[in-house]
Amino acid sequence: MRLKKSLGQHLLVAPQILNTIVKFANIKPEEIVVEIGPGTGNLTQFLLKTPLKKLILIEIDKNMIEILREKIKDSRVNLICADATQFDFSILKEENIKVVGNLPYNVASLIIENIVKHKQVIYEAYIMVQKEVAERLQSTSSWLGIFVSTFYKIEYLMTIPPRFFVPPPKVDSALISLKRYQTNLQIDPITYKKFLTQIYRNKRKILRHKIKEEILLKAKISPNKRVEELSLEEFLKLFQLWKEVI
Ligand code: SAH
Repeated sequence: MRLKKSLGQHLLVAPQILNTIVKFANIKPEEIVVEIGPGTGNLTQFLLKTPLKKLILIEIDKNMIEILREKIKDSRVNLICADATQFDFSILKEENIKVVGNLPYNVASLIIENIVKHKQVIYEAYIMVQKEVAERLQSTSSWLGIFVSTFYKIEYLMTIPPRFFVPPPKVDSALISLKRYQTNLQIDPITYKKFLTQIYRNKRKILRHKIKEEILLKAKISPNKRVEELSLEEFLKLFQLWKEVI
């Protein structure tokens, strides 16, 4: 089988790592799990050892779908050929989804963004990404980090070196978890993204150049601050005021 670099196909083959991921995911009976990018089903087989109720596989590559159809014979599995960066999780008609996956690294950020857009139905995620992406998500350096951490607690669980993959990627990987906060923030993710990307544009410029000074003063934030100096509370306060005037 030829693996497609363009689809980020680096298969995780080490049983001890696959086992650890599944342990971290702590899947309880009757849970609904969505695996993103199952590939040839390495992680899938470990997930199926847990007492989950349903396992929905979302894979973009038709060849992989064929392999999975041959290999995985379990009535709990539902195979969907779709693009996880665009997939509408609400069509699954499930209210409490746990997402698991060794994400294709080239589109990992887009998949994470899509998870947050479906925060109503996805309550936890255990995902493997490039180590650098995991670190960036935990800082204030990118809009996506703030976007995710507004709704989910991000935890860095472990680093996985390239040698555990076939073919080995050039960089280290990291397993992270996202756990949705109990507080149900009534924030529309689409509008919130618009706000965050606007204030993250030209990151080094002081806030006064991107957002009306009166809004900043009303929020008691110095107009000379830079976006990376804001706290989560300040982002939320600014967003509420910004929303009223657009
Ligand atoms: N989980 C498997 C494979 C990981 S590689 C393992 O660990 O062995 C990433 C997988 O994601 C590949 O199978 C690739 O085809 C799939 N993929 C790539 N882009 C995707 C997308 N946009 N939506 C869904 N799956 C995608």
